[in-house]
Amino acid sequence: MQPLYAEQALLPNGWARDVRLTLDRNGIIRQIDCNAIPHGARRLPGPAIPGMANVHSHAFQRLLAGLTEVADCPDDSFWTWREALYRLANRLTPEQLETVTRYAYLEMLRGGYTSVAEFHYLHHQPDGRAYANQSELGECILAAADIGIGLTLLPVLYTHAGFGGQAPAPAQRRFINDVASYLALYDALNRAIGGRSFAVLGPAFHSLRAVTEAQIRSVLEALPQAETIHMHIAEQRREVEACRAWSGQRPVEWLLERFALDARWCLIHATHVNAAECTRLARQRAIVGLCPTTEANLGDGVFPAEAFLQAGGRFGIGSDSQVSISVAAELRWLEYGQRLRAERRNRLWSPARRSVGENLYVRAADGGGRAIGQPGGSIALGRRADLIVLDGDHPLLAGCPTEHLLNRWLFAGGKQLIREVWVAGARLLSDGHHPSEREITAAFRRVARQLLNG
Ligand SMILES: [Zn+2]
Repeated sequence: MQPLYAEQALLPNGWARDVRLTLDRNGIIRQIDCNAIPHGARRLPGPAIPGMANVHSHAFQRLLAGLTEVADCPDDSFWTWREALYRLANRLTPEQLETVTRYAYLEMLRGGYTSVAEFHYLHHQPDGRAYANQSELGECILAAADIGIGLTLLPVLYTHAGFGGQAPAPAQRRFINDVASYLALYDALNRAIGGRSFAVLGPAFHSLRAVTEAQIRSVLEALPQAETIHMHIAEQRREVEACRAWSGQRPVEWLLERFALDARWCLIHATHVNAAECTRLARQRAIVGLCPTTEANLGDGVFPAEAFLQAGGRFGIGSDSQVSISVAAELRWLEYGQRLRAERRNRLWSPARRSVGENLYVRAADGGGRAIGQPGGSIALGRRADLIVLDGDHPLLAGCPTEHLLNRWLFAGGKQLIREVWVAGARLLSDGHHPSEREITAAFRRVARQLLNG
């Protein structure tokens, strides 16, 4: 592969100048030269930074984004939103799922994500029967990732409707498996992934509402090689209260008591954690998957990020319900939530990185890459060359001192400052455009009309 050259690049130790990257034929970075000459290298048109992992996506929910903002009742909540979501989920055909997912992944590339973990719980036909090909819908997700984004597919075990093994509701029938059918599905997806270069498979549990302790143990024992384990947890106060009523413990506390959480575990949301849970998660190196725009949209609450980061906690960011598909929006709202709570400015910095945007970006890229088992996350030897190139010609970057570059993008510029997106040394977006975007967009438009007008 042709070497790449950037006048400015964000390396693990900070910004470097005149950086030349030598890649192998798989797009892995094999040599990094600073203060180098471009000689024979392809010159990137702006500052280069590592690509971002999207640690939590339900791509099909893009169809619903912005359509649940009309008040239904005086007490609209996560739980009333979920009813609208179930109505949509129960109508999608495999073709529609693939089309919507591919469009959402295109938007992710545009928003600065170079890989995505799809938390995939839609498994069966609308009446709950398995498809003739058990992994039909998971294969639609795999097909949608053909636009070049790195994909970590997380088939989700979902068995129950509430703590203590409650029977599922009819609206959940497309999601439901027991351990045996789940492991068969997992095997089928493993075969479907085959030798795809940017695809990774990992187990996921919907939540402590949806699975039992024995089920988690059975799945983990059957998949000892799993590098990533994802689960929604403590997103809503009502969920915390229900968990306490059932077990006498809070959800994260319950999990910490029973499982040896480590860096393989990614806890999605963890919004309602107390100080002790926060410290233990950080100490055990478990990663928290934060989705600030979704958590704001659904009225979940505010994660105690200041305390968690000060304790050395690791995190990634996700677009979850797809109400926003933008790295800048997630990181901005992560910081703003803390500011609104503390009534102060600049909360999520560290002595080593006083720039809020840079601190958040570097930590989210590193933690997110680990959480989804994709080999990007930093511009370093042995990592995949997943890169975002900011627009060096954009007026907002003119004369911008290096320490403010990421803040200019994340707090003020947004998506318009993204000029190129690279995955594994291949340029997927140039001047903000993907070569297949016309067809992908037209197909999405057709499906949206079918589903929203039908
Ligand atoms: Zn979710």
